[in-house]
Amino acid sequence: MSETLTQSPAAGAAPGRLKADLLIAGATILTLNARREVIADGALAIAGDRIVAVGKRAELERTVDAARTLDGRRFVATPGFVDGHIHITGDPITRGFARGGPDDNWSDKLMKWVIPIFRTQTPRDEALAAQCAALAMIRYGTTCFLEAGTVSHLDATMEALAETGIRGRVGEWVEGRYGPNAEAEAIATLQSEVERYPDKGGEALLAAWPVMVGHSTNTDAVWLAAKTLADEHGIRVSAHMSPRAGDPEWYLANTGKRPVEHLEAIGALGPNVCLTHLADVSMGELEALKRTGVHAIHCAHAAFQGGFGLSRIGLYPEMIEAGVNVMLGTDGVAADILSSARLMGSVFRDARADQDLFPPGLMLEMATINGAVGMGMDRLIGSLEAGKKADIVLHDTDLVEWGPVFDAPAQLALSAPPHGVHSVWVDGVQLLDGGRSTRFDEEKLLADARQAGLGVIARTGLPNRTGWPVI
Ligand SMILES: [Zn+2]
Repeated sequence: MSETLTQSPAAGAAPGRLKADLLIAGATILTLNARREVIADGALAIAGDRIVAVGKRAELERTVDAARTLDGRRFVATPGFVDGHIHITGDPITRGFARGGPDDNWSDKLMKWVIPIFRTQTPRDEALAAQCAALAMIRYGTTCFLEAGTVSHLDATMEALAETGIRGRVGEWVEGRYGPNAEAEAIATLQSEVERYPDKGGEALLAAWPVMVGHSTNTDAVWLAAKTLADEHGIRVSAHMSPRAGDPEWYLANTGKRPVEHLEAIGALGPNVCLTHLADVSMGELEALKRTGVHAIHCAHAAFQGGFGLSRIGLYPEMIEAGVNVMLGTDGVAADILSSARLMGSVFRDARADQDLFPPGLMLEMATINGAVGMGMDRLIGSLEAGKKADIVLHDTDLVEWGPVFDAPAQLALSAPPHGVHSVWVDGVQLLDGGRSTRFDEEKLLADARQAGLGVIARTGLPNRTGWPVI
């Protein structure tokens, strides 16, 4: 896709009419508002960083004076997607390398391959990786992300992200359990990052939150410090938990309780906490999630590629039934959040032999408004409504993969190609046009990232284990 959108100057402003910078006119708009309205032949007006009007095209053309009008007739417009869990450094410049040794189990692979790669990165490596991750997300229609708590060089990463224009929340790597001063250092790091990169009531495009690696790497004191910071600053705690039996086994052996029950007992859970994976949870833990209002982040690619056993033991349909807010993450395995929704829906429909599980509307909700709710930002993002931030995606239906548009939400959720993302705005700024970045020389970024990735791998000293023989 190389064609860019045509834009034409509007007529002069008339008194009493709403002023806007841009009117996207004629699109099919999936509003994700409370009534889940789909507006055929709709229009969106943007002024500054906000959506100022949403409605039928004919009405907005009568009531809005826009500096520019964009012909949206071939597009489906959605709110920007929310990726609730992504590692923005490490993987983007070393993708596919951490394959593990022949006898390495999942934990060995993490300790001997994945973490050494993360730890070998320089500030510049992390900056380049974060820009690659942001650009990939934007290309797939993700406008807001919650990082996974594995950034080592926060300042360089934030500076690099600011150049991308994406909305995100990031956490510096903290592990409070290992080493004599680890707990105090972890708590100091959480405090410092939140103060250095304030959330500003959700208004900041980028901010730091107390995001932790989680599992069993943080002491109770670190968990409670993170929760207190979140309470005081109106932000969120996030952490990995229970992708497999390892976390429940550790918590049972060391606390006598399963992870979610232990964290509830010490007062570390609440509606400002998001936990990622939650594949191996008991019904008792599910009740605790419901009781405390914790948000569950499901990363389908990681679960199914990693063989978590989720289709056999996962309780996500039960979580949704119980009213737990379920949002999606990619875990950095892929940047495409819609494919995560498809994978999740497909696996549970098949595992439960129930074709009605995860209908298309729910898949889109998990990728948009549920993510915004989980991040406590639904006042600002997650739907296309007047007053919200202008985080907008235009999906091009002029592709054979789309076919004629009969039911836009179902087609987008079930079969639209990821390369159908044509244009993306974040905070009222267009970051993608015709599938191309408006901010980056993509070829240069890719070349720099490749060099950086090769450097990281060389410094780890890890062997390149390819699957098939390379001759
Ligand atoms: Zn993760």
